[in-house]
Amino acid sequence: MNPVDNVLQGSFPSVMVPTRELVAPMSGPGERLLIASNGVFLEIDRPWIRLVRRLGSFDWHTPVPYGQAQELTELRCGAIPAVLVVEFARLARAALPNEVGAWIVWDAVTGRFRMERLASLSHGPGHLHYERPQLREGEWLVVDCHSHGHGRAYFSSTDDRDDLHDVKLALVLGNCDRTPSIALRLCAKGRFEVQAGAPAHWLSALAGEVV
Ligand SMILES: [Zn+2]
Repeated sequence: MNPVDNVLQGSFPSVMVPTRELVAPMSGPGERLLIASNGVFLEIDRPWIRLVRRLGSFDWHTPVPYGQAQELTELRCGAIPAVLVVEFARLARAALPNEVGAWIVWDAVTGRFRMERLASLSHGPGHLHYERPQLREGEWLVVDCHSHGHGRAYFSSTDDRDDLHDVKLALVLGNCDRTPSIALRLCAKGRFEVQAGAPAHWLSALAGEVV
């Protein structure tokens, strides 16, 4: 194999799923392909989350003599504190009628979360451009939050473009002058999994806020 493809196979390997044992864990953050008897799977590893999703199944039934893989979601950072979501809701209300953004980040060493407000390059009702913040060593983006001002919470085509490459949760708060509407999805390298609702502890904390 030429050196470029060698590096590529090292950084984004494809791995046979064994039949008699679990596939060996990844050695660090990154992605790899798992080739299994039931399809080809993408595995994503970050200190805060591990995901396995089926990219595709085979076009015809042929015995691929490998083991089976399963989709999984392992949230390693634990529950995301409601107090930070409330903090963001307050920011969003204070910024009205403009939009605002923040990241909830997790420190893999201390296990602590914190919020990093995003410096807007330009903002107004209906748009928001910001610089990606520099995180401290060991910190990871977990929830990318932005507000839609007085508008409802949903994922726009701009949001789809912004979220295409990241591994994160994306949170939108809308109707920020009252108990906000919420849109939440898991973004995993171009796959968007919209969540049916927000975690109950977030909802009760937001509902308890005095407007
Ligand atoms: Zn948006």
